[in-house]
Amino acid sequence: MRYKSGSTCPVCQSGKLIHKLVEEKFSYKGKPFSVPNYEVFGCPECGEEFVDDKTIRRTEKILTDFRRKVDGLLASDEIRAIREELNVTQEKLADILRVAKKTFARYENGQVTQSKNMDTILRLLAKRPELLQDIAEILPASMPEQTTMTTKVSTTDYIPMELGNISSHYDLSKEIIMENDQDKELLYAA
Ligand SMILES: [Zn+2]
Repeated sequence: MRYKSGSTCPVCQSGKLIHKLVEEKFSYKGKPFSVPNYEVFGCPECGEEFVDDKTIRRTEKILTDFRRKVDGLLASDEIRAIREELNVTQEKLADILRVAKKTFARYENGQVTQSKNMDTILRLLAKRPELLQDIAEILPASMPEQTTMTTKVSTTDYIPMELGNISSHYDLSKEIIMENDQDKELLYAA
């Protein structure tokens, strides 16, 4: 949904929306985190606040990286750096590790969080880049039973700190649940 300053409030149908930048607070597993310059459109009549898709997308990566940090996982940029150090494209690395083609694009833009297993593989590759060749040789071309290499996050793990007006319009749970039903995600479960 896109909102504009001056447009009519979709809730009360009488107030005119005002654009503002706020500091929005979130928490994950009890750890607080705030996103500065969080764009909201507020209604001066009924007090509702709205967040548009653009802001949600921008925030998604920031929140994913925060969650990764709390969970001790590599951040988007670290994953990208490791891949670049290995000198392979996102698709090539996905192919070698037998995950869905778009997996690394999703890890790197924060759409999807890597599993602990994948995280470990990436850390190993960062230390020993030559292992990539070994992995390419030992992994079978296709896996009969694919398990997931991404992490599902329970919505209850991750709630905005202020259960105020914003959260009622910002379906955070929908944004952070990792979708991989369609994906042929790999792996070698622990
Ligand atoms: Zn209103």
